[in-house]
Amino acid sequence: GLPELPVRPIAGRRLSRRIEVGPVAVGGGAPVSVQSMTTTRTSDIGATLQQIAELTASGCQIVRVACPTQDDADALATIARKSQIPVIADIHFQPKYVFAAIDAGCAAVRVNPGNIKQFDDMVREIARAASASGTPIRIGVNAGSLDKRLLAKYGKATPEALVESALWEASLFEEHGFRDIKISVKYNDPVVMVNAYRQLAAACDYPLHLGVTEAGPAFQGTIKSAVAFGALLSEGIGDTIRVSLSAPPAEEIKVGIQILESLGLRQRRLEIVSCPSCGRAQVDVYKLADEVTAGLDGMEVPLRVAVMGCVVNGPGEAREADLGVASGNGKGQIFVKGEVVKTVPESKIVETLIEEAMKIAAQMEDDGVTS
Ligand code: SF4
Repeated sequence: GLPELPVRPIAGRRLSRRIEVGPVAVGGGAPVSVQSMTTTRTSDIGATLQQIAELTASGCQIVRVACPTQDDADALATIARKSQIPVIADIHFQPKYVFAAIDAGCAAVRVNPGNIKQFDDMVREIARAASASGTPIRIGVNAGSLDKRLLAKYGKATPEALVESALWEASLFEEHGFRDIKISVKYNDPVVMVNAYRQLAAACDYPLHLGVTEAGPAFQGTIKSAVAFGALLSEGIGDTIRVSLSAPPAEEIKVGIQILESLGLRQRRLEIVSCPSCGRAQVDVYKLADEVTAGLDGMEVPLRVAVMGCVVNGPGEAREADLGVASGNGKGQIFVKGEVVKTVPESKIVETLIEEAMKIAAQMEDDGVTS
């Protein structure tokens, strides 16, 4: 027979320092948080706050805003004050905006080593201001803006180059006793990115912000991020994540949350277990699964709903779930907690499932079960 191989569990989390991004703890065993970045002009305060509200509603826990101009810097105070979630100012090139962001009450500031080098002598002042206000700094290394010195040394943006850049930048702050830092080493190739984060995780104890940068349009970017974050998070590496998509930011949050739920790092909310359909299917499974998903959108309790096309695996899966349907002969057997509660005609499957789901959700809420 086959040798018995041990099942490898998901690793324990890497022990990182903890920083506080406003009320959200990052690192030190805190739950992995999901973040995104606004796409509005930051100086357009109304539009930016509107987008932050949408992001908050979709589950975003930390939001980053770009700060390329003085008008953007001037908008930070209002945005930081009115945002429901902590705001990180994203700053390249201009040290004066770092001070502006700290004064504005931003929860953290992101700087980029390739671009910060020119203000080495400013690091002491930044460290002092950030310390005094308790504002953490994210050191965000990107392959695209890697320090020229390191590009020359390594020939290209290798994992080693990204890590050396990040650690060098961190050391500039450490010289001034500042360690309230999280680090990212983003790259568009998941393989390079995963290796960079692995090396960085072994070389320091700073909390890590995971990202595959310029990951691409929604489909490709989702796959790249899921593969890379899945590899790292299953090794216990990563304290906060940002999925980068060429798509509306709320999409990034949806994907980020799904990744954490899939890895068991966050309790699932609604999970639809639906079969891929095959030649045995006796209902249109895609349509049924879409309709059930849409009907249960926004459900806040962890509910597993099985939508199965026929009676082969149908009853088994439907029984395992909180709620399910196994279809056949123009009818649907509706299961609740493993018991057939009713059999309904095909046209009534969706409404019956939604009705039963609402009952279970109400019961769960009464019992205090929420995700
Ligand atoms: Fe095919 Fe039935 Fe399995 Fe769906 S549940 S994939 S229809 S065998």
